[in-house]
Amino acid sequence: MTNLPGFTESLKQLIASPSISSMQKSWDQGNQDIIHLLATWFEQLGFSISIHPVPGTENKFNLLAKLGSGEGGLLLAGHSDTVPFDENRWLSDPLTVTSKDDKFYGLGTCDMKGFFAFILEACKSLNAKKLAKPLYILATADEETTMAGARFFAQTQDIKPDVAIIGEPTSLVPVIMHKGHMSHRITVQGQSGHSSKPSLGVNAIEIMYQVIGELLSLKEKMAINYCNQSFDVTSPTLNLGAIKGGDNANRICGHCELDLDMRSLPGMTDAELIALLGEALAPLAEKYPNRISFDELHPSSPSFAQEQPCEFTSFAEEISGHKCCAVNYATEAPFIQQLGCQTLVLGPGSIDQAHQPNEFLSFSEIDKTNCLLTTLINKYCF
Ligand SMILES: [Zn+2]
Repeated sequence: MTNLPGFTESLKQLIASPSISSMQKSWDQGNQDIIHLLATWFEQLGFSISIHPVPGTENKFNLLAKLGSGEGGLLLAGHSDTVPFDENRWLSDPLTVTSKDDKFYGLGTCDMKGFFAFILEACKSLNAKKLAKPLYILATADEETTMAGARFFAQTQDIKPDVAIIGEPTSLVPVIMHKGHMSHRITVQGQSGHSSKPSLGVNAIEIMYQVIGELLSLKEKMAINYCNQSFDVTSPTLNLGAIKGGDNANRICGHCELDLDMRSLPGMTDAELIALLGEALAPLAEKYPNRISFDELHPSSPSFAQEQPCEFTSFAEEISGHKCCAVNYATEAPFIQQLGCQTLVLGPGSIDQAHQPNEFLSFSEIDKTNCLLTTLINKYCF
């Protein structure tokens, strides 16, 4: 017989197994412990387990667990990593689940290790012998930084479930659409020199000032030319995120860098956004030859839209009791959708608590989530 932990205990073990993803090396961790934990649990329930190292990462793995055989079925997907935490701003240890005021506090309780504790609970009562279609569980690596795990999964897997749920915290509201995300660095190469002789140098900050002017007009143009009323921020966005340049007040600034991100609406491609950037900067590139360049900071994430009307969305609306909606943040949904399945983002906990100190999952979501997952499994696998 199995020796599986109860819901609270499995949540505790998941949270206690740190798997932080960060672009800062000092924070970044592998996820082998949590992947091993999930493998051990789902194996006991009869799932076949495959674990794949994610190329380009250190000690990061995707796990796919499969119960049953045949075509179609249901995929329940989530990421096994979390963001870093600011220890001084937490009221409890972020890696120890603490129950207080009808909430479980801990890093990843809602975003989104908690989802795997729910899946485990739902799978305990399954009669595997009666499954008509397969049930898949996917735990990815590195969602919080590069989405390398989901990208790799989409490129290499040939499974084709009928439907997929990404259990990100949506307060159990079915999400059918989100924006894409890309980040770029604009670099201005000037010519340094003594500040008393401006004509001997080329001031990179002064050129960047003009670059920023062009970017701000691009931002306004995008707000006028593109609109999707499903979003509360209805246009694509452009954010000037970080700037660095020069070293001393008495030197002409020789080098300046600006990091920005853009969030596209569904239907806009990366190429379209890059073309808009290129057009905006073209007059300055002509005025200052070979001084302005832009490069991708990390691979972009596409926008996501589940085509409507779709039976899966209607069913999710019915069982969750919520109308579907669009959100501004990005998820792994566009990669999972590449498998060819109807895809929704739908999970317990609120995005308002994600990436925050004192992240929590409310007790009030437990029964609803259990019921939702059981209903989904029954509908698509039996
Ligand atoms: Zn997440």
